[in-house]
Amino acid sequence: STPTQVRTRFAPSPTGYLHLGGARTALFSWAFARHHQGVFVLRIEDTDLERSTPEAVQAILDSMDWLGMQPDEGPFYQMQRMDRYREVIARMLKEGTAYYCYSSPAEIEAMRDKARAAGLKPRYDGTWRPEAGKTLPSPPAGRKPVVRFRNPVDGVTAWNDLIKGPISFDNTELDDLIIARPDGTPTYNFCVVVDDWDMNITHVLRGDDHVNNTPRQINILRALGATLPEYGHLPMILGPDGEKLSKRHGAVNVMEYEGQGYLPEAMINYLARLGWSHGNDELFTREELVAWFDTRHLTKSAAQWDPKKLNWVNAHY
Ligand code: GLU
Repeated sequence: STPTQVRTRFAPSPTGYLHLGGARTALFSWAFARHHQGVFVLRIEDTDLERSTPEAVQAILDSMDWLGMQPDEGPFYQMQRMDRYREVIARMLKEGTAYYCYSSPAEIEAMRDKARAAGLKPRYDGTWRPEAGKTLPSPPAGRKPVVRFRNPVDGVTAWNDLIKGPISFDNTELDDLIIARPDGTPTYNFCVVVDDWDMNITHVLRGDDHVNNTPRQINILRALGATLPEYGHLPMILGPDGEKLSKRHGAVNVMEYEGQGYLPEAMINYLARLGWSHGNDELFTREELVAWFDTRHLTKSAAQWDPKKLNWVNAHY
């Protein structure tokens, strides 16, 4: 059989400049694709209309340009793919892997309270979930339904994370995720799933703030009959004081480093060393990074940003 071509993606939400953590995520996805002569896809996740701006899109593109991480495909914009998401939702409704749920917000709140009172995790009680031999209530007049994914009710959803190792979630913890809102617009996790599927993504490298989304995404991908990508969740970058990296540690906007005269090559080199290593090598070229990059040497523990080290790398470049 022919080996599958490696396809990675960077999928930023354009709500601000590209910060160092985002740049490192992009870099690892880029380097992994390059190492395997694969394809690096850029996808702009702009469905949050309140927070997404064209300026942020431009800032992300400029930063990636400066660092020399041009995508092979894209940028694709989720807002331009709405018809496709609706098409997949229609298909799932037809196939019975998703269903209309007419419970009102007040009813959902009551279900959650009931679960809490019984010492369980707050969850939807499955009122509108079709089951063999079950008669569903009739839809309340004039109420617009959400669409829910029919999540497996038992067993576990597990994957072998490229960075964290084996991870598993009990399906009872996952609930029947809402995939379309009452106005028909698709929800965040659903768009990610359809995109990773349509774009034939083989390896998802992203921040570990997404670990809880992964089992939900895997279950929907399975329901669609998709081949699952591999997942690797990167631990966050901490400031020198061990706290989450933020503005009080100095510049966190990648482009500020360009303004201060740092070399993009030095920035790439230093970002790569945050959570990945190649023996004791501190200085390497972009070509060496691509030649050496692997997921086995990504570290499980959080990396620490150290401006002194960046300056050292920049001075030796
Ligand atoms: N848009 C998400 C973010 O910026 C990333 C989603 C993903 O990589 O799956 O955090």
